[in-house]
Amino acid sequence: MPPKRTNDGFVVPDLPKRFRAESAMPASRETSPATLRPRASSVSRAHPVNDKRLVPEESWKYGRNKFGAENTHLIVFETPGNQLFARVYSLCNKIYWRCMGCRRMDNKATRAEFIDGNLYVPIGSFHRCRPKRYDEIREEQIKLDRKFAVACAIDEPMDENEDPEEPKAQPNIIQFNHPSSEWIREKSDLMGIKYSTAAYQLWAKCEIDKITTTSLPSKIEAGTNTVFDCLSMLFTGNKNSAAKIGKELCKNFSSKYKILQKYKNYDFSKMPRENKFLDALVFADEPNDFHFEFLARWLQLRIGIFENDHWKRFGNWTTFDFKTVTVLLQKEEGNYQIVLKFE
Ligand SMILES: [Zn+2]
Repeated sequence: MPPKRTNDGFVVPDLPKRFRAESAMPASRETSPATLRPRASSVSRAHPVNDKRLVPEESWKYGRNKFGAENTHLIVFETPGNQLFARVYSLCNKIYWRCMGCRRMDNKATRAEFIDGNLYVPIGSFHRCRPKRYDEIREEQIKLDRKFAVACAIDEPMDENEDPEEPKAQPNIIQFNHPSSEWIREKSDLMGIKYSTAAYQLWAKCEIDKITTTSLPSKIEAGTNTVFDCLSMLFTGNKNSAAKIGKELCKNFSSKYKILQKYKNYDFSKMPRENKFLDALVFADEPNDFHFEFLARWLQLRIGIFENDHWKRFGNWTTFDFKTVTVLLQKEEGNYQIVLKFE
């Protein structure tokens, strides 16, 4: 067949299938969850009906996925009336249920489906996986409940069947910038502490230009123990404001925690303040990643903490500019110190 041409005589290229209009595609069976079936390519199907069994109402329950989202797992007992073994199906793309055991083994889809409100699962010989002991499944679920029930798990659960998103590519090289006195004053005001020119002298001792993921601290400022000691030094030149900074962090975390948005699978933007999980963070004895990320966002700076031979980064590490200030600390045997120089 000759190629299609426009009126001007140009050849109209044949679009690959995926670019064609939806209406031109054959109606997909997968658009309706009720009619979902294992893909023909992934399983051999001798008999379309007999390869599924109806699961009695009392022989299955919902569970959480590893991100804490509720009703994203189906736990289906292998033998009705017996709770010794079960298989777990995980919700994919919010529309179909895939056997997790089979997925782990060969990544082929073995699917469960709801038809008129009744649950049907593939019969045993259809699986490549072995059922799991239910007490193990239950233990995992109890742990997830404990971890997520008090907080708001993210609304849009990450689909655990997809490969986890690659962490955003962070540029290997970040510019280390010395702050202006105006910047130090502004941040000191936020923390309710008094700026001193001595702070500037400490920053002047930092002989760092570029920061890479492989930078190794070679020189530190001695005499600090806590993160707050370090911050006090960096903003006032001495440790006297450490306690005040700690208090301000606690106070501001309590009222401004929503700036954390979605962080580490928690949606802080939707979290009510009356919440045990938040209380635990606000009144924590030791600052942790949540606090460091909060500090970085609240004070609009970057924080890098060198611990166990690698850098933990907080705040925005994706921009290379000559303005953003980075606080570089090293944690050794529980003590924090200010990094002044790299090897
Ligand atoms: Zn299976």
